Order: sequence, then structure tokens, then C-alpha cells
Amino acid sequence: MLQFPMKVNVLRFNENGSYFFFDVDSGILGKSSPMLDKIIEQLPYFNIKKIIENLSDKYSAEDIESGIAVLNSLHEKQGMFISRKSLFTQGKGLSKRVSHLWLNVAHDCNMRCIYCYAHGGNYGGEKLEMNITTAKKCIDYWKENLSDGPVSYVSFFGGEPFMNREVIKFSIEYIKEILADANRKLVFNMTTNGTIYDEAFVEFLADNNVELLFSIDGNDQIQNHNRPLASGIGSYKIIENNIPKFKNKFKKLRATIVLTKENASRLKESVMHLWNLGFNDVACSLAITSDENLYVSGADLPGIHEQISEINQMMYENIRNRKHCFFSNTYKYCVSMHNKLIGAECSFQTDNALMFTPSGDIHKCHRLIDCNEFSLGNISNAEKWEDINKQFVNPVEERPCNDCWALQLCGGGCAHEGYVYHNDLNTPYDVTCNHTKFMIEDAFKLYARVYSHSPSLVDEVFSNNKYYKRL
Ligand code: SF4
Ligand code: SF4
Repeated sequence: MLQFPMKVNVLRFNENGSYFFFDVDSGILGKSSPMLDKIIEQLPYFNIKKIIENLSDKYSAEDIESGIAVLNSLHEKQGMFISRKSLFTQGKGLSKRVSHLWLNVAHDCNMRCIYCYAHGGNYGGEKLEMNITTAKKCIDYWKENLSDGPVSYVSFFGGEPFMNREVIKFSIEYIKEILADANRKLVFNMTTNGTIYDEAFVEFLADNNVELLFSIDGNDQIQNHNRPLASGIGSYKIIENNIPKFKNKFKKLRATIVLTKENASRLKESVMHLWNLGFNDVACSLAITSDENLYVSGADLPGIHEQISEINQMMYENIRNRKHCFFSNTYKYCVSMHNKLIGAECSFQTDNALMFTPSGDIHKCHRLIDCNEFSLGNISNAEKWEDINKQFVNPVEERPCNDCWALQLCGGGCAHEGYVYHNDLNTPYDVTCNHTKFMIEDAFKLYARVYSHSPSLVDEVFSNNKYYKRL
């Protein structure tokens, strides 16, 4: 039975006279009515008697009570207003929880991006490429500790992973061989700067369904400024030439923009540019750096958010016209809302990912690799995973995020951001938090808008889709 007043994490939206609500805690999303909308608005503050009194000029006590009965039924039968936080710790206590292998195959890069947290690819250490012997040891250790879950993820990262194609080929073939009997899906992905094109290798990646994520910031002016080659020359032309070749081999291409203070006002322009260049899904992330000329501050957010609302409106038109040009930051929340998914947790603060440097150092976050204090040893003499996997684990219910209304979709904070901006792994960065909350709210509006246009269309574009589940 509902208790009033009550704590609610419900987003409400009116699209062309149609009312919608989304209970962030339970994931229940539904069409509302003007009266139900008013009742939900009052839930956090008043008891039933007061709600009836407050709304008496518009609705009868009987109607209001029937509206509350609807909410009560959703609460009791479908779990509305009930938190799903326990899902974050599902599998806790199992001896094997690892699902994700992350190989930094090259600590070297042919570019010098102005905000690079890897200091030009070498993470402040020596330039190094992983060799096959080390890769095999890392993969064997991962396999030993791999959970029985239905999906396993393998990420290739750098520096620039295309600089070590031999080890990527070996790793994919070896992993497929040792997991051939297992009844599980393997999802391979790779982040690349797109400047290196090797026909045979790209064909190999396409044949193995490796998902490629291109780091590119926008048009030639933005890209050449933010992401020059190591020689100092701009990188845009090379990527522009390579994209059609990648496009020939892959059905869909994804891109990610790093937003700095300087290019923040050009986000919409950059997203449109990348859609036109051939990318189907474009995401953006804020540059994480202590350089005050580059990092995005709270004062930059309103301008960014205005553009995101405009991008969402363009995405709505694309959806209506069955054109696959999406903005992943908000699209992924629509998918989560539609399928009642929870956000991905920070792997540094859980024990489900294993990350290796080229020399075989064991880590839990690629962005914290340059700090030796966060290493869990080396693969050459690795301790048992169950003896070291609890280091840096920080359950959601013990983090400040536990009280945040956005937790279910956000998944919780990024330890690296806390470390950079607060010198504290456990304190979320408020600018990112505000940004995340805005995107969840605007994603909900997009969802409601698509539903208003055609209820069957939300199924078509937001149904559970493994490809997007990992975005
Ligand atoms: S990181 Fe921020 S937005 Fe996300 S759950 Fe934590 S406090 Fe909320
Ligand atoms: S600290 Fe941030 S970047 Fe690192 S694993 Fe966690 S969420 Fe990802």
C-alpha cells in the first residue's frame, strides 16, 4: 500500500496534450492523464486528504481516489516506486563475475590529441606494444575467471590499436577457439582514431563482427585543432578518405566526439557533420582534464543542453523517416527506458572487468592506468583473482550516488572523474551529474514524442538490441 507523502523519482512530460510518466526507480513508463499527472506532482509533498483538497477545484474526490488506486495497483503489481538498486549487486558473492576483457594492445599512438589522458598513447610510460605471449597469458587468466554469463565482452584499446594488428588478430582467433564450446555470445569492440586503413585487417574485423568506435571531433577545423597527427599535421583529411572504405565493410559506423570548452558551442554542427560523413551513431563525452582551457564547466552546460535538445529533435525526424542517424547519448537512455535496463556500472568500482597494459600489468580502468597505485600486479606473477578482485570495489549503496534519482539509468559515477576533479575516487563530478540528468530527462521527452507519433515505432527503434546495450 502506498504511504503518503512519498519519495518519488518520476519524470513527467506533456507532448501535444498527451501526458507521460517515467518512474526511474522501477523503469515503469506509461501514458498518463492530466489528473494523474497532477496527482504524481503532489505525491512527494502531501497525503491523500491534502491531495484531494488541493485538486478539488478540478476533480472530484472519487476521481482522485480512483487515480491513486491506479498508482497503488502499479506499485503493488508492477513495482512502481520500488527501487531496483539491488540489481546493481546481482551476482555478488559468486566466485566468478568477470565478463569483460580489455586489452590495451598498444601504448603508442600516431596522433597527439590536445586532451589525451594517455599522454600521446604511452600513459606517461614507455611506448610499448603487447606481444602474443603476453596477450595469451592475459586471455588465459581472463578465461580462468570468466563468469558463466551468456555474453562476454572483449575490448581492444590503445594508444591506437591499429598499430598492433597482429596481436588483435591472434587474440580474436584464440578467444574464439578457447570459447568455441561455451554457450555464450562474444562481443568484440575496438576504439580507433580511424587514420590507419589496412584492407585485409578491416575485412578480418568485419568478418568477426568487431564493433568499431571512431574518435573524431567534427569538421576539419575542429578535428585538426583537437586531434593533430604526431607530426603536427591535421588528421581530418586522412579520416575523411578512410571512412567510405570502412563504410564498405561495416553496415553501421559509430563515432564519439570529445567536447572541450572550445568546441562545446559547436556540438550540434559536429553531430550533423559526422552523420553526413557516414556515421550512423554519434556520441559525445566531456573532456576529462584539469586544463582549465579545455574542461567543460557548469557555465558551459546550458549552451550544450540547448543543442542536445535540438539534436534530439533532429533524431526524432530521423526516426520518423527511418533514417539511422542517431545521437547515442540520449538514444541509449530511450533503449534503457523501453527495455527496463539499468545503467552500466564503473568497472573500476566493481569486479567484473579485467584490463591489461601491453606489459601485462593488471588494472580495472583504462583511464587510471598511468597511476601505478591502481595496478593489481602483473600477469607474469599474477595472484589469484579472488584474492585481489575486491580492491577498489565500491558498492553503489555505499556511494553518494545511492541517493541520486538518476542512479538506475546513470549506473553511478566515474571514479576517474572524481580523481581528476576532487582528488577522491568516490565523489562524482557535479558537472557530469548535471549533464547526465539533463540527458535522461531529454531522452524521456524524445521517447514520449516518438510514442505520441506512433506507439509501434518505439518498439521498432528502441527494442532491446545488444548492439546498443553496450553504448
Ligand atoms: S554519477 Fe551523478 S548522476 Fe550518476 S548516479 Fe551518481 S550522483 Fe547521480
Ligand atoms: S573510473 Fe570512469 S573511465 Fe574508469 S572504469 Fe570507471 S567509469 Fe570507466
